[in-house]
Amino acid sequence: MTGHNEWMENFPLIRHITDRKEWLWVNPDTETASAGLAASGLTEEDVKEASDRFRRFAPYFADVFPETTGRGGLIESPLSPIPAMQATLASSARLEIPGMLLLKQDNALPVSGSIKARGGFHEVLRVAETLAGDRGLIDPSRSYVQFKDQPFKDLFASRKIAVGSTGNLGLSIGILSAEFGFDVTVHMSADAKQWKKDLLRSKGVHVKEYEDDYSKAVEQGRAEAENDPSCHFVDDENSRDLFLGYAVAGERVAAQLAEQQIPIDADHPLFVYLPCGVGGGPGGVAFGLKLQYGDAVRCYFAEPVSSPCMLLGMMTKLHDTISVRDVGLDNRTAADGLAVGRPSGFVGKVMAPLLDGVFTVEDRTLFGLLRMLADTERIMAEPSALAGMMGPLYTIRAGRPAAQSADARHLVWSTGGGMVPEDVMEAYYDEGESVELFPGKSTKSE
Ligand SMILES: *Cc1c(COP(=O)(O)O)cnc(C)c1O
Repeated sequence: MTGHNEWMENFPLIRHITDRKEWLWVNPDTETASAGLAASGLTEEDVKEASDRFRRFAPYFADVFPETTGRGGLIESPLSPIPAMQATLASSARLEIPGMLLLKQDNALPVSGSIKARGGFHEVLRVAETLAGDRGLIDPSRSYVQFKDQPFKDLFASRKIAVGSTGNLGLSIGILSAEFGFDVTVHMSADAKQWKKDLLRSKGVHVKEYEDDYSKAVEQGRAEAENDPSCHFVDDENSRDLFLGYAVAGERVAAQLAEQQIPIDADHPLFVYLPCGVGGGPGGVAFGLKLQYGDAVRCYFAEPVSSPCMLLGMMTKLHDTISVRDVGLDNRTAADGLAVGRPSGFVGKVMAPLLDGVFTVEDRTLFGLLRMLADTERIMAEPSALAGMMGPLYTIRAGRPAAQSADARHLVWSTGGGMVPEDVMEAYYDEGESVELFPGKSTKSE
């Protein structure tokens, strides 16, 4: 085991991380989009397959989840400019934001209210489709509404799906698996929020609670699944199916921007700011956007100051072999989905040449921004979902001319909040009241 001091000696920039101060790390290894995509081992065809799968299941979603019928059963969220937030953010940070500020509202994704509806749903759909296809149950002359039929339900009732999660991944896997009729178990750490356990149990999901922390719950879930051939374990740290489900967001965003006549090209670059936990969500989305826009899109991840796992993994190139605990951080944050100490090695390696940087955000900043977004735009998101909102300030202050241009588009990805009970959301909002954002200091960069 390498000691704390040795890390510091080998990677002097780690002092910015151990400081627990807000900071932007600029990735020195970024390559062109085409080189990065070619090195990834994943292709446009892989993403198209995931996209086609969502399309095949659209009639099913439209039927069983009425809130998706408006979009023909596609799980998608609004994307819109947020000019009131832009004005307030700029004035309180005493910084000009000359370009356009946009918000992608995955907090409003139907059925499970977070970005996990992209990756999590896709993995469940693939499992369901593969099992039914192998049994010869799928009638190609009929729509996938047939997945409601008894033979499908009987098949799925004999199969298990398991996942380890404290939060939104458990909700998305649990809700959709239960709807198909799978025998589904969510392994949760003791600190998981009570309302999440209650909600899952009300849908017929088995919730197993552990005294230990999150990684123990995941470990236990994985071990149980390995001993049971009828069980599919959703592996948040290594799943290609999760990643590809997230990546479908690329073509969806491109369609939304085109529809709103917001061109993206070398003269109108798109900067995207994505909250990062283990990395699959933001990595998949960034990958999908790179496929659409190549070098015209620049992607940044946002992490809590106590849990900058992807930053640490990428900077040291140690990926999943280093944890934030190795450099003395406690991995404690109010940003639920982002309290991850060790990043996905798979995602870190795919993103290493494609990501422009990672920045960190204090919890208090998240609450302050949550309140600002609610006050200016009447949009309620959970604390994690606000991590990206500091992005434009970082890229503009870092002196990137493209980011400072009036033709820049800054897209903040709001990742969750749609399932948070009203009283919990009110408490978040109240927490933001005492936060003085930007008290006369400026964000640092290097
Ligand atoms: C899961 C989650 C993220 C990050 O996704 P990862 O795949 O863990 O990186 C960000 N925001 C919210 C609200 C989430 O639930």
